[in-house]
Amino acid sequence: MKFDVMTLFPEMIESYCSYSILKRAIDSGVISVSTINPRDYTLDKHKKVDDTPYGGGAGMVLMAQPYVDAYETVQKVEKSITVMLSPQGEPLNDKLVNDLAEYDQIIMMCGHYEGFDERIRDIIKPKEISVGDFVLTGGELPALCLMDAVSRKIEGTLGKIASADEDSFSNGLLEYPHYTKPREYRGLKVPEVLLNGNHKEIAEFRLQQSIERTKLKRPDLYDRYKDSI
Ligand code: SAM
Repeated sequence: MKFDVMTLFPEMIESYCSYSILKRAIDSGVISVSTINPRDYTLDKHKKVDDTPYGGGAGMVLMAQPYVDAYETVQKVEKSITVMLSPQGEPLNDKLVNDLAEYDQIIMMCGHYEGFDERIRDIIKPKEISVGDFVLTGGELPALCLMDAVSRKIEGTLGKIASADEDSFSNGLLEYPHYTKPREYRGLKVPEVLLNGNHKEIAEFRLQQSIERTKLKRPDLYDRYKDSI
């Protein structure tokens, strides 16, 4: 998977990708991450990428020219999708993450300030994706959320792909509780069933725990799960 991130702050992306699982995935060639800075493409002699909004109002608007010119330099592969991170987009969830993982390239456009000149949308026609009904200062964190979540679905990113299959949402439920050593901590014991080595019983216990905690924490998910079985 090739990720191309259009951002005014490439260091934010590069920094996150220099650690842990994403770094390993990049080093082993499972994913690649490039950044494109629209500021490098502005024709303005002061390197401006934003200006005041027509019609008045607070905040600065990202100008079309640097974004469109920068976008047009990105080399596209056959199975490519362009995503604009935006609070007005489709909410990101596990299903959308799975759909995005089917592509070979995701080009991401990160906004800042008041957001994009509308003509950027008109010309590029990206798919708009939101990470939730709240407003952040920029699109870099949403882009990183998307990139991280999609990367986990690509074989080779996680040590065992099975660990993604068992995560919350993959079967419509929240994941069961985990325990590690020691067997007892501050009087709290690891459930006996996890210690007996009986894989069938462990699987049944975990499914039951998944169901119980989904019912408790996410009744909306539980209702959908119930309808699906
Ligand atoms: N004025 C815009 C609005 O009300 O729709 C919000 C602009 S926001 C301050 C600046 C940038 O942050 C956006 O262009 C987008 O790239 C990013 N952003 C903010 N919140 C987001 C969210 N919930 N999901 C995805 N991107 C978001």
